[in-house]
Amino acid sequence: MYYTKVFEKIYNEISQIPNNGIVCDYIPELGNVNPNKFGVHLITVDRQEHSFGDSEERFSIQSIAKVLSLTLAYNLENENLWRRVGVEPSGTPFNSLVQLESDNGIPRNPLINAGAIVICDVLLSHIKNPKEELLHFIHKVADNPTIVYSPKIAESEKLAGFRNRALVNLMKSYGNIHNDIDKVMDFYFHLCSIEMNCRELARTFLYLATDLIDPETNQKFVTTSKAKRLNAIMQLCGFYDEAGEFSFRVGLPGKSGVGGGIVALHPGKYSIAVWSPRLNKKGNSFLGIEFLERFTTEIETSIF
Ligand code: GLU
Repeated sequence: MYYTKVFEKIYNEISQIPNNGIVCDYIPELGNVNPNKFGVHLITVDRQEHSFGDSEERFSIQSIAKVLSLTLAYNLENENLWRRVGVEPSGTPFNSLVQLESDNGIPRNPLINAGAIVICDVLLSHIKNPKEELLHFIHKVADNPTIVYSPKIAESEKLAGFRNRALVNLMKSYGNIHNDIDKVMDFYFHLCSIEMNCRELARTFLYLATDLIDPETNQKFVTTSKAKRLNAIMQLCGFYDEAGEFSFRVGLPGKSGVGGGIVALHPGKYSIAVWSPRLNKKGNSFLGIEFLERFTTEIETSIF
């Protein structure tokens, strides 16, 4: 009850702010969404759930899925993974080519496009059918077998993916892509096409806020040490070149996507997902950040 009231109060405040954000249009299929949608869902580690607005409507989670593919690759490669991709904030847009050249084809971190493409390549080297395997992993983590790729969005990404192809080609020239480029990109475009609603998204990321057990292995989905590192990467790299601003305003690790979704976590306490499709100039949900800033201020808890 308390949280739902807080959500409502904050929503009423932020809906008065002029929102000049625009819906992502460089992936044509994403442009079809109603820009005025707004949803939020919070799940605590003891499984209390609170929601507001369009929290049951699925949207394209886009780059948020990069944390899930990273988790799978990290579990397979352990610390060797960091030979192929760094853990530093990039300070450049998510699809920038400039830095990659000066860094000899090693992406700054796994959450920018170049880094996520390398992670797809790593998974292709380990797994015969990575698209299926990733979805299977997500079904287990999310405890939800209904989550799927959107073939329409994947196709739209493929048609518009000129910069992403430039990134993969550049990395291939430096020897940091080991598999066939078309296979890597097909996997990457599918990864970005996953759809969830706010409830599903918040629940999916609960594994980074508390220990959850994989029913197949009877072990934690990630060790405590890996959860620490994954949260640190989200804190430093989860919001393109606005990660510092997000930390400063919200004070939680999180990840955004150009579909207008944001997931953020308070380790040991809760996971929260917000969706509002209009993006600010840095590609993050304008109202999503406004909402989360007021939320952590109002309830007086952040990790800092
Ligand atoms: N599919 C998008 C791209 O590759 C991901 C962008 C994002 O959400 O950061 O451009």
